[in-house]
Amino acid sequence: MRRRGDLRRIARGLRFQLTASFALFFAVMLIAFTGLFRERLIKTLNDQSQELLNQEWSTMKGYMHIDRVAVTKPLKVYWIYDASDPDETNSVTEIQKVYLVADANGHAINEVINDTESNGPAESSTYEDLGGDPPAVITKRVRDALAGKPNTPFFITRYSKSGEPFLIRYGLVYDDRHANPAPFYVAIGTSLSNNAKILNGFTWIYAGVFPASVILGLVLGWIVAGRALRSVRDVAQAAQRITGSNLSLRIPSRQAGDELDYLILTFNRMTERLEASFQQIKQFSTDVSHELRTPITAIRGQLEVALFTAKTVDHYREAMFNALQDIDRLSQIVRALLLLSQAESGQLALQKSRLNLCRALHDLVDQFQIPAEAAAVHLSADLPVECYADVDRVQIDRMVTNLLSNAIKFTPEKGHVFVRLRPRQDRVEIVVEDTGKGIPVEHLPHIFDRFYRVPGSGTAPSPEQGLGLGLSFVAWIVRAHDGKIDVKSEPGKGTCFTISLPGADVPAGAIPEVVEHA
Ligand code: ADP
Repeated sequence: MRRRGDLRRIARGLRFQLTASFALFFAVMLIAFTGLFRERLIKTLNDQSQELLNQEWSTMKGYMHIDRVAVTKPLKVYWIYDASDPDETNSVTEIQKVYLVADANGHAINEVINDTESNGPAESSTYEDLGGDPPAVITKRVRDALAGKPNTPFFITRYSKSGEPFLIRYGLVYDDRHANPAPFYVAIGTSLSNNAKILNGFTWIYAGVFPASVILGLVLGWIVAGRALRSVRDVAQAAQRITGSNLSLRIPSRQAGDELDYLILTFNRMTERLEASFQQIKQFSTDVSHELRTPITAIRGQLEVALFTAKTVDHYREAMFNALQDIDRLSQIVRALLLLSQAESGQLALQKSRLNLCRALHDLVDQFQIPAEAAAVHLSADLPVECYADVDRVQIDRMVTNLLSNAIKFTPEKGHVFVRLRPRQDRVEIVVEDTGKGIPVEHLPHIFDRFYRVPGSGTAPSPEQGLGLGLSFVAWIVRAHDGKIDVKSEPGKGTCFTISLPGADVPAGAIPEVVEHA
């Protein structure tokens, strides 16, 4: 059972699949090439045999004559050649091995005269062994040949009784010594057993070479795939060495510019992002402990002082009052953190409804007039009559409150804070601008981070403000509403936050419902 599981695992493995594909490709190519080669070989051997027969045919026409002097006398075939010349004798003997001469009616000529001696039939014993040609067949072939071009060669393959293949060439030959030459049917042949032997030999060699090649392909494929995958294994091992405590490790690039390098690059980028997240979490834990420790230390100090030095009830009351203020700050931090983590983990669902942003902003600006007057800052708003958006009113109030309180907080006396609302096609822009101290450009990318305060901004932790969480909330609220936030700031001149939210059309006649601030 386990073995089968192991086999299945190996079969699914990349190395095995690469090897199998390689061997399959190898086998298919081998079969295709061998098939093509075999076809060509057969054709070449066939062409050669036909060429040989064509030569024999010409030779035969030179040496063979048919006697037709007297119609009543039996026809005779004369082979006229120089018997003392071994070349001529050989050629004639070769032709006479497989041959048949017949008249146009299909009657085989009975007498053959070789030069001067040896009588015998004008059909070789081998041709007889092939079954001869019946007169009806010969007559038809003569007729067909005469109907077409009389000199066209015809080739057929025939088998002897023992199964030996022969290529036969047949056609017409004219007794051209006569004024009105009559056609004779002649067939000559040659054994194809040599061709068959060559093909057989080739098939046997192929039968041996094919499995050997496929095995070789498998072995080679296994080695090549192993080599190719070794780099992947190296990368995997390098990746395994990366843990939470050494996220700064990177997989070295192979500088090959291939897919694996791309994978390494992607992996390294992912590790970079992970490292940044880990760093953020670490920083966050440090910040949280720091933020919590400060009020706890203060409470402890106040209580200790009260315990050891307080003499009157007023002393005790003052210490307890201070401690309570710090406890307030502590619970404010804890509440804000809880809310933020709920928001970012998606547990805080938005309660959207159609809201006239002008009225909502108008109310908020009204509320902030008192703190603005207290800080001697001039707060004004430029709002159209109506502007609608589908938003969560509680969160939009929280967002604008954070921006307004920051703007007033960081604007010196006699400064200005402006609130604007600008409808833009299918979006709405809320702008909170001040003429305050501004934010140095190097701090801009961090102001939305949790607990981030621009160093030297003078917002020392106090029970009311300066947690460094306000803009983190703003960023989340904007994101949750599919909006965008943009900040422009110039130190000494002021800061401008622009929030763009999806707008909403109000159906004609419909009175928008305004959700009351919770
Ligand atoms: P805080 O509770 O400290 O205001 P925020 O997250 O709201 O925290 O803001 C982060 C930091 O960004 C602030 O400490 C301040 O340094 C800077 N900041 C925010 N708004 C303004 C502004 N309008 N002008 C100048 N600095 C600002």
